[in-house]
Amino acid sequence: MSAQLLLGNDAIALGLVENGCQLVTAYPGTPSSEILSGVVKFSKKLNCDIYTEWSVSEKVAFEVALAASLSGLRSATAMKQVGLNVAADPMFSAAYMGVVGGFVIIPCDDPGPLSSQTEQDSRLLGLAAKVPVFDPSTPAEALTMVRAALELSERHRLPVILRPTTRVCHALQTVEVDQAAAAARARLPKSQLGFKKEPQRWAATPGFRLKLHFELNAKLQAIETEFERSPLNYIDNLPAAGTHRDDWRLGIIASGVAYQTAAQALAELGASVPMLKIGTPFPLPRQRVMDFVRRCQRVLVIEEPDACIELQIPDRTHVSGRLDGTVPNAGELSPEVVTAFLADALEGSGVTVAPPPDDQALNSLIQSLKIAPRRPRLCPGCSHRSTMFTMKRVFGPNAIYPGDIGCYSLGTNLRAIDTFVDMGAAVTMATGFYQAARFTGDKRPIVALIGDSTFLHSGIAPLINAVHTGARFVLLILDNHTTAMTGAQPTPANDYTANGDVAAKIPIRDIVKAIGVKFVRMADPYAHEPFAALLKEAHTFAQSPEGGVAVIIADRPCVLYDRTPVDAAPVPVVITDDCDGCRYCVEAFECPALVLRADRSRVDIDYRICIDCGQCIDACYKGFIVPQLTAASRELPDKAEAPA
Ligand code: SF4
Ligand code: SF4
Repeated sequence: MSAQLLLGNDAIALGLVENGCQLVTAYPGTPSSEILSGVVKFSKKLNCDIYTEWSVSEKVAFEVALAASLSGLRSATAMKQVGLNVAADPMFSAAYMGVVGGFVIIPCDDPGPLSSQTEQDSRLLGLAAKVPVFDPSTPAEALTMVRAALELSERHRLPVILRPTTRVCHALQTVEVDQAAAAARARLPKSQLGFKKEPQRWAATPGFRLKLHFELNAKLQAIETEFERSPLNYIDNLPAAGTHRDDWRLGIIASGVAYQTAAQALAELGASVPMLKIGTPFPLPRQRVMDFVRRCQRVLVIEEPDACIELQIPDRTHVSGRLDGTVPNAGELSPEVVTAFLADALEGSGVTVAPPPDDQALNSLIQSLKIAPRRPRLCPGCSHRSTMFTMKRVFGPNAIYPGDIGCYSLGTNLRAIDTFVDMGAAVTMATGFYQAARFTGDKRPIVALIGDSTFLHSGIAPLINAVHTGARFVLLILDNHTTAMTGAQPTPANDYTANGDVAAKIPIRDIVKAIGVKFVRMADPYAHEPFAALLKEAHTFAQSPEGGVAVIIADRPCVLYDRTPVDAAPVPVVITDDCDGCRYCVEAFECPALVLRADRSRVDIDYRICIDCGQCIDACYKGFIVPQLTAASRELPDKAEAPA
């Protein structure tokens, strides 16, 4: 055995590799993104042949992995929680059909939400789709549960969900790993079954689907019975046999990270009450839960991000939690939040608690660090900022800017994004705004923004729809050559795969042309003037009698992924002493390297993070940001009007 410090997502990846998964797919999304790269890493380390794929969407990822399972292979697919919405269609169907090789779905939830548009609970989607769910509390438990999930999946021929949350995915824990056993398991002979035809199951028509639904319900019943005895569900702080009923004044039922947080809060409050830890929230081992509930005078259910266990408790007469507001009905259950409601619940049940720990010394230390609050911003030199800056200059503040999911959604700070709904919605919302404007008489320009990865994921069908229905707007495809927000995973427009193999490149421009868009141009957003001219040309085309959707592909690699073009032609800049601290550049351009002095007298450049892209030169309308070489000689205008 050896102790390894593992990220939760790495622990899951190791579990998939050492338990014989032969095919793993994913679509990147925080907090799930490190799982697939972890599988690539451990498969190389343990020398096993695993097919890995960054799929074009979660639905595609799900179906590729499902087909592998039907071929007898152990397989898995990972995504963030909103990705499971995209994959929900095949998941509901797969639950009816069943599987052959163990098949684990890993949607990673984001209570908070810290990096998502919703804080939805994948356990509830599992409940709706009738797919069993495992809910790990720690990286070590996630590693254990991968094997349990694969084995359960094979035993009952059902897909199974492993649902970690951000604080499991991104937690580091020292995990005992038996390297030799892991390597041996990973190299065990794999399935040679191959796909066996069974049309009444794999291609079932509605009549057979009804039969399969009865079968699914029977499987869930058998799994619930199995979960009643599972060591993944257990009671902590169990009062000694024969102790007084007062020992059961309050009982806690908890799962996932909320279980760890509640246990820690109890220790800090100096209280010890019985805690039922649930590792398998669906199907809920109801008998075990009700035995616990009946023994307690009051029960508090602590789970996140929503009520799933609480919802399934058959008798909630003296049960409280998210549903009755005893536990806040939204938001992450941080230690501070849990300690506060737990202290109230303990006191309300007559359990003595110690005063909450005095954090004054810690708070003063944090305050002494003088860390200024800072909103999330695009990176120094990001080409999206240049695109949006020019776009705003051309179309002004009143144009309608439908946006999409990706790092460019930070353009809301620049007032360059008016809506973002879900993957691909920039194009459909632009179409809807155009069609609505025909009735409202709204003449404002519509300029939609979508990233390269998002376009390939969910923008193609909406663009087909827009062209087919004769919509007119400008569509900016922000092509930074990678899936930047989640760690630079390749898209189908790249020429390499998840493990670095050569792949066929699917050019976005060709797709747009094939859809029938008549105005398609590629341009470098760093070249502000030509880019502005192109935006005007695109708008004119969109409005012309023969016009339609006009597409501009803003082509410039992400500066974190490929700095070559910037480094090849650096434009170092300085801000002259004429700067009067009007803050226009800071607010309208928002490069993190432009820093307003504490006394607000002027703006300086933070050369520790400035990448010499020169893009901010146009951001000072007074001309006080200048190329470094010409700073001394340049003649500066006296005064200028602030642009709209
Ligand atoms: S816009 Fe120009 S004058 Fe205003 S703060 Fe920026 S550099 Fe200084
Ligand atoms: S040159 Fe200007 S825009 Fe580019 S990184 Fe430096 S401060 Fe930011």
